[in-house]
Amino acid sequence: TNGFYLDRQARRESNARSYPRRFPVALKSAFGSTVTDVEGRTYLDCLAGAGTLALGHNHPEVIETLQEVLSSGLPLHTLDLTTPVKDQFIADIFDTLPSGLREEARIQFCSPSGTDAVEAAIKLAKTATGRTDIISFRGAYHGMSQGSLSLMGSLGPKAQVGQLVPGAHFFPYPYAYRCPFGRGGEETASLAAEYFERALRDPEGGINLPAAVILEAVQGEGGVIPAPAEWLRAVRRVTRDLGIPLILDEVQSGIGRTGSFYAFQKAGIVPDIVVLSKAIGGGLPLAVVIYREGLDLWKPGAHAGTFRGNQLAMAAGSKTLEIMERDGLVERAAIAGRRLRANLERIAAETPYIGEVRGEGLMLGVEVVDPAGRPDALGHPPHGPEIARMIQNEVFRAGVILETGGRYGSVLRLLPPLIISDEEIDQVSGVLASAFERLGR
Ligand code: PMP
Repeated sequence: TNGFYLDRQARRESNARSYPRRFPVALKSAFGSTVTDVEGRTYLDCLAGAGTLALGHNHPEVIETLQEVLSSGLPLHTLDLTTPVKDQFIADIFDTLPSGLREEARIQFCSPSGTDAVEAAIKLAKTATGRTDIISFRGAYHGMSQGSLSLMGSLGPKAQVGQLVPGAHFFPYPYAYRCPFGRGGEETASLAAEYFERALRDPEGGINLPAAVILEAVQGEGGVIPAPAEWLRAVRRVTRDLGIPLILDEVQSGIGRTGSFYAFQKAGIVPDIVVLSKAIGGGLPLAVVIYREGLDLWKPGAHAGTFRGNQLAMAAGSKTLEIMERDGLVERAAIAGRRLRANLERIAAETPYIGEVRGEGLMLGVEVVDPAGRPDALGHPPHGPEIARMIQNEVFRAGVILETGGRYGSVLRLLPPLIISDEEIDQVSGVLASAFERLGR
């Protein structure tokens, strides 16, 4: 039973474990958009390995590719030596880059986590510029190592570990619903852009010229907050003018999730450095940093990692990219996302417990509010983290797995596989609608 495994897990695994506390199951099998526990109960998986499983669980063609590689005699572990599989993967991933970066791209394979690829990106920018400060944004999430944690734009787990890497500066992110300037709407993005520009151009502004600016074009863990295109363009213009490398962390938003291959493409900008992990390995561990050749100034061995040569992940990644292209899954993410979003907006129209529905493609968020609390200056009710947790528990009991996030844990996050069907989308929406209905009005 689930109880048997959970009991053993609780006695043996770290107190830092998180998902088992919210989803008390032991999983036995998974296929497509569903997972099944050891008692035979099936759940619609709108977490999908935190956005990793673009093609869902155990996609038959990916599994077949992996079996072929496993029986081919290919060395599975090569550090940074090359192989035909790796050579192909590089060609495939470079093909997805926007013009302006594609022609002069360089790639560094990292220890297979988004965290390590962020570390690499920051080290590269510091090396290339000879500078040390980094600009990040409120609400940002870039990973769990001490370097990436120092760029986290909320206190969270960073508060527990004291002094981190110095030199991080946090600027306002254009989160209009909780506008840092108390304005909201389109004004939020234009004020955030103006603030960014003025602070960076002011020689007496109190910060050194940074080695890099790092951002997510859609904040994920921070509460599913898409940055408006004009803000992204303003940040790109200022960083280019001042010679500051711009790092786009596409670990969660990349690989089609938002309805464009990269979330930054909505703004037509071209970053200097792109960080990728999660879906890029087709469900297996893989992380890379891709950057302009001109930044390639670090020395041999400047970044390493024993498992940076995971051939299986590269093969699965290439296969995933091939299937995504063949089946038009980036476009499908946009279409499916519109359907899910429309459903969520219908739910929001019927309940006082939803402040806002946000997101792009199949990276969607529902900001849960507490209508009984005192509204903020913009008239929005306060965050409702306990209510969000209740909804999460209730939809789980009804067979839907979804994550919560945001600075206060009050945002329900939906990150289903890009292959989720219309029927499954409607099922998820129906379960959510019932959960909100039960809260009353
Ligand atoms: N950057 C972003 C934007 C992320 O969402 C995450 C993971 N949620 C990371 C970095 C860290 O990736 P990992 O958990 O693989 O280290």
